[in-house]
Amino acid sequence: MANHEETFQRLCDQAKEAAMIDSILQLLEWDERTKMPSTGGAYRADQAAYLAGLTHQKQTEPKIGHWLEELANSPLTADPHSDTGAIVRLLRRDYEKKVKLPQTLVEELTRTASHAQQVWAEARQANDFAKFQPLLEKTVGLKRQEAAALGYEATPYDALLDQYEPGETAENVARVLSALRDALVPLVQAIADSSTRPEVAVLAREYPTAAQEQLGKQAAAEIGFSFEAGRLDVTDHPFCVTLGPRDIRLTTRYDERSFNDGFFSILHEAGHGIYEQGLPDEQFGTPLGEYVSTAIHESQSRMWENQVGLSQSFWQHFYPQAQQAFPTALSDVDLATFHQAINEVRPSLIRVEADEVTYNLHILIRFELEKALIEDDLQVADLPGAWNEKYKHYLGITPPNDTDGVLQDVHWSAGLFGYFPTYALGNLYAAQFFVQAQKDLGDLDASFAKGQFSPLREWLRTNIHQHGRRYTPAELVQRITNAPLSHEPLMNHLTKKYGELYNL
Ligand code: ZN
Repeated sequence: MANHEETFQRLCDQAKEAAMIDSILQLLEWDERTKMPSTGGAYRADQAAYLAGLTHQKQTEPKIGHWLEELANSPLTADPHSDTGAIVRLLRRDYEKKVKLPQTLVEELTRTASHAQQVWAEARQANDFAKFQPLLEKTVGLKRQEAAALGYEATPYDALLDQYEPGETAENVARVLSALRDALVPLVQAIADSSTRPEVAVLAREYPTAAQEQLGKQAAAEIGFSFEAGRLDVTDHPFCVTLGPRDIRLTTRYDERSFNDGFFSILHEAGHGIYEQGLPDEQFGTPLGEYVSTAIHESQSRMWENQVGLSQSFWQHFYPQAQQAFPTALSDVDLATFHQAINEVRPSLIRVEADEVTYNLHILIRFELEKALIEDDLQVADLPGAWNEKYKHYLGITPPNDTDGVLQDVHWSAGLFGYFPTYALGNLYAAQFFVQAQKDLGDLDASFAKGQFSPLREWLRTNIHQHGRRYTPAELVQRITNAPLSHEPLMNHLTKKYGELYNL
């Protein structure tokens, strides 16, 4: 009995040591993307590869397998959702996945991703898909090998998806996203046909960077991001990273001619950061101190960015501060005009610039295409044509070139197959959780209008953050909302909100 306790302790210590090495790697990556001079790049890549290898080694030592075996029938693991039961179960899952992948394949994937990202950037710049094609073909081949090594039941895509969404399947994603598409396409069309035209020009007036930073920090702090345990810095592509318990770094970028770009990326990253700050500190390095999945993480950022940050009630409270921060740009703009402008819906080519309504169609297109690539139903050579066809079909627009089409996202060059759907799933989870929070907490809009965000934040902490990875995404949504994931909460939210904004 005492032996089991000791073995469990060793297992946790080993996991925490791996997490410590990984956190040092995260620090180097944060520095690379915020502060490092570009001349530091080559040596930084060596440092990163060294630490990644060391983490992998710590996570795959054969003694871990022996410990897991020893604990398999111990009373500590009798309840799979108890602290000890969950930790052992999840460390076993991670370990088994890691040891299934041959070291040679892991190295080949890393090397190819690094090379493919460089070539992708050049191809994108030159609007030359043919230049990128051979590396994408190689990447798809390697991802199929990876899926085969990991194992799957229905489709190799499931094995890749499972790395981001434990337990999720292509079939289930197709079910919810197709239902969403069928409801969304007519809504996008109705909005396009509406004569209502938001005054978006007011959002492209002069927004000085210093004031943007101050207002963004104010908003992040008000919704509950602790700057005592975090920072906000500037980068090219905003992200949030955890460097250790109580050290969460947000990043953003500022465009002096855009209100939305800086402000909403800060709210988005702060949503990620609040999740990380809500995980139990003492469990840092064990699965109970880690986030559930990529989509659940995204549900947290999207809830604060969209459900809260784009709401009328949020701005009832916050608009006077925005007007004070940008007197020249906003003093002659009333709240309704501003709110309508930040909620403009317009089918566009670029995913990262897409609004709350059309965004999910961008994701659906990528999901359908990457699934077809992995299942060998689509050849890489035919990808640009298939891409343009789907944009025409779902969004009614055709990219004029591949730079603004199939070459716009870094993901495939980085080998991130199975990642795209998590963005849309995140939106769906956010909407479904938010409906439940409103049921549990009463009139959230009334709280937001008074600047009270802590009821929602505490609700998220209690229902989601504090559990770490104890539940899978599917278990979590069932536990919290008493229903499986559905497109309906998001569709209801969009239909109601945009029906009012566009007089549909
Ligand atoms: Zn995000």
